[in-house]
Amino acid sequence: MPRFHWLVVQEGQLPLRPDRHFAAFEHRPTVTLIWREGTAPNRENSLLVDPYFTPSGFQGAVETLRTKGISFAEIGTYFVTHQHYDHMLRLPIDSLHLPFQAVTEAPESIRAVSCPGHDADLRALAFTSTDDKRVWVVSDAVLDEEWLRAWGYYYPNQYSPEEIMQTWRSIGAIFADADVIIPGHGAPIQVNRTLVEALIADFSKAEYAKECPDVLEALRERLANLP
Ligand SMILES: [Zn+2]
Repeated sequence: MPRFHWLVVQEGQLPLRPDRHFAAFEHRPTVTLIWREGTAPNRENSLLVDPYFTPSGFQGAVETLRTKGISFAEIGTYFVTHQHYDHMLRLPIDSLHLPFQAVTEAPESIRAVSCPGHDADLRALAFTSTDDKRVWVVSDAVLDEEWLRAWGYYYPNQYSPEEIMQTWRSIGAIFADADVIIPGHGAPIQVNRTLVEALIADFSKAEYAKECPDVLEALRERLANLP
């Protein structure tokens, strides 16, 4: 099974917090670069996920790539997990010449997995990393770790009860498999016993929790399989 390197090139942030206050930082998604093991990123084997860059985020990304000896010009394609403005291609004016190509299907050996809830068409990307972890780039299926632990969802979108329950079911599906979760607007999340136990303990905080016992079941099953 081919394995992949991954690197967060823009650290995501979401000013709106689960307790409904707004933090004083800019809104930007987590942008991840994925490329095949044993190769340097090039136009055929590298993929940026959700490349919406703010000017300062882009500057940081250039620096992050430089420390790995990579330049933006070497990156070939990008994948958008869902059609919300803050996940679609956006580059600062002075880098608009970068010749990225959109791909709508996941490359070979990477799975695109439907994770509805936040958005009906949201697709996560799942793959095996070079250290044999199952990595899931899930975008806004999980906003960030604090939102996850709070069983919060992006309420300004005014979801229906069905969409809220789908949000939890997508989390159940992600936790059934992932070792590392790269959320839509935060740092990578390690799946371990402490986290899964906390999610199980607080599941009753989730709206409509009683209507989706299957989510709790998925979390318990994962907990039983964690070292
Ligand atoms: Zn977003």
